[in-house]
Amino acid sequence: MTRPAPKHETFIVKEKVFTMNRFRFAPSPTGHLHIGGARTALYNYLLAQKTKGKFILRIEDTDRERSTQGHIDAILEAMQWLGLNYDEGPFYQTERYELYQQHLQKLLDQGKAYRCFCSPEELDSKRQAAMQAGKKPKYDGTCRNLDPQQSAQETRPHCIRFLSPDEGVTVVEDLIKGHIEFNNQELDDLIIARTDGTPTYNFVVVVDDVTMQISHVIRGDDHLNNTPRQVQLYQALDYPTPQFAHIPMILGSDKKRLSKRHGATSVLAYRDEGYLPEALLNYLVRLGWSHGDEEVFSMDQLKEYFNIEKVGKAAAIFNPEKLLWLNAHWIRQSSPERLIEASKNFFQQKNIALENNPYTQKALASCQEKVKTLVDLANMAVFYFLEEIEIEEKARNKQLTLENLETLKKLLPQLLALPDLSEAQVNDCFQKFGEEHQLKLGKIAGPLRVALSGSMVSPGIFEMIEILGKERIQARIENLFF
Ligand code: GLU
Repeated sequence: MTRPAPKHETFIVKEKVFTMNRFRFAPSPTGHLHIGGARTALYNYLLAQKTKGKFILRIEDTDRERSTQGHIDAILEAMQWLGLNYDEGPFYQTERYELYQQHLQKLLDQGKAYRCFCSPEELDSKRQAAMQAGKKPKYDGTCRNLDPQQSAQETRPHCIRFLSPDEGVTVVEDLIKGHIEFNNQELDDLIIARTDGTPTYNFVVVVDDVTMQISHVIRGDDHLNNTPRQVQLYQALDYPTPQFAHIPMILGSDKKRLSKRHGATSVLAYRDEGYLPEALLNYLVRLGWSHGDEEVFSMDQLKEYFNIEKVGKAAAIFNPEKLLWLNAHWIRQSSPERLIEASKNFFQQKNIALENNPYTQKALASCQEKVKTLVDLANMAVFYFLEEIEIEEKARNKQLTLENLETLKKLLPQLLALPDLSEAQVNDCFQKFGEEHQLKLGKIAGPLRVALSGSMVSPGIFEMIEILGKERIQARIENLFF
């Protein structure tokens, strides 16, 4: 007879005694912050904001081989860019080993964990035997029977196992998935510290949640299988089981798990492609959550509306076109200051230091309705800020013919003679000039557009003329003749 494990009744969820809502986002820095992780962070953040709780950032860097400082920095940068500010942290698991040791000792002292001296070879042959007998391989509990005091004196290599119940079920009440029962027989005595003494993943997560007094665990449903183990560990550490919400995965349009094949998956890649964080957050919140049939949400609205009850049970499908549509929307919605601030880096890459002044504001506003990303915006608006514009080859060949250059030469003094460059004045000037030289508007505006912006795709001609002003217009047209 092996040592009896605790009965399943012990593991029934106790009444919650949390005095405050405390949420955590716990990324592993084995890669960038990706779309799925950002959504998890967002849901936690929103619920913390909505319930006036706390949002905690915990970096789960125990996988030393795959965790890198570069990934940690990228995660922190992405969180900052998204504006998902945390109230506490970042905490690093690699700095918390002492705490894990204390909790290991506590479980050993209370007889809730035991030292296991079975060698890898022994375990392997037991596994083989079980499989041959058609049984699920599971640790057979050999070392449960050892005297704890004697075991503590032993110098042989050993790991530490958690004494899990043999019978009954472990219940997970999930806010999204509902009531789930896991058969305890399926779960063997989990190794909570390896032979080298390092604590294992499920154990450190629970110690962290316990010591950080986490009330809600909201994460991807790829962790659902860890949850019964963790529930047993919370109970063993005399901690009330947090509320769980396991968010369904994000899939690509082919219903396969979202990966690079479906386009950019990292948050910073979207930043670099000219997406606004407000657009990405808006898109992410809708990936699995709904509020009537509304699509557009500001963060302030989300802090009020977001709720876990409306998160769907089915996997969400990533739709890059919708994200782009939302980005265009949020660009159009941006105040002049916001637009300048958000697009600064993209102009910087073109060696232009964008200043917040009326000229910049008007220049960007004239492109705002026409672009879908900040990269497009910088490409379209750059001509406003260049001393000497670059003229696209195709545009030059089509519009800056000798004949059209002649037109521009004659038009310039007339433009310069106008009292101002308002649309009414310029339009009037074009009409008269057209009649005088037998030219249709396109024959005037076409070459002028290319002369002023370098491209055939530009903001509206009248708007552009008014913003550029006489000096720049003169310089750009005269430049064509040198
Ligand atoms: N570190 C885990 C991950 O990045 C999350 C663990 C948890 O939220 O409990 O997937």
